[in-house]
Amino acid sequence: MTDYEKIRNRKRAQKVLTGLASRKMEGYFVETREEALQKALELIPEGASVSWGGSQSISEIGLKEAILKGSYTVYNRDTEPTAEGKRAMMLKAHSCDYFLGSTNAITEDGVLVNVDRNSNRVSCYAYGPKYVVLIVGMNKVTKDLDHALYRVRNTAAPLNAQRFKDSKTPCNATGSCANCKSPDCLCCNFLITRYSKDTGRIKVILVNEALGF
Ligand code: SF4
Repeated sequence: MTDYEKIRNRKRAQKVLTGLASRKMEGYFVETREEALQKALELIPEGASVSWGGSQSISEIGLKEAILKGSYTVYNRDTEPTAEGKRAMMLKAHSCDYFLGSTNAITEDGVLVNVDRNSNRVSCYAYGPKYVVLIVGMNKVTKDLDHALYRVRNTAAPLNAQRFKDSKTPCNATGSCANCKSPDCLCCNFLITRYSKDTGRIKVILVNEALGF
């Protein structure tokens, strides 16, 4: 990210924070991934139960590692050896205190847009965990909802597809979305979060870096 992008981000972030507040979501803006980690750990009290969905951003800032080393009860599907165990843990995650993740896009006025294959992540964003803490690189901010949906389809999902070598989606093969109905399709459910019923349930930490995809 260039210095000019960072300068622009500082201005743009103020608009995003105002948008989030108008939607009863709590927003923070930090400059670095180290500050994002510190802020996230400030928000999550020791002793809390914590879980997460698939998120590159929380790994990139070291949040998963810090939680695993800390004094928390972790509902971790990653360490479950069987499909049944993973499913049980994903269902349990809906009752955790803090669910961690990112968003595939966020509009300048604070709307979150996410797409999911398994959909445990978007379902926890919508309902279940007491709090949701999202780590969001400024690379994910879009002008409006149309651009957010475009980003999700044409940047986030095709990039995510590259993680799955055996996935037989068109975007895995070509790098471009073909609006598929492939059995491996990553785009099963879209979640648009435009307002939080419970004030402050969703906490968004904007980071002046490129994180995730
Ligand atoms: S090709 Fe299919 S899986 Fe890939 S981004 Fe498009 S709809 Fe999603």
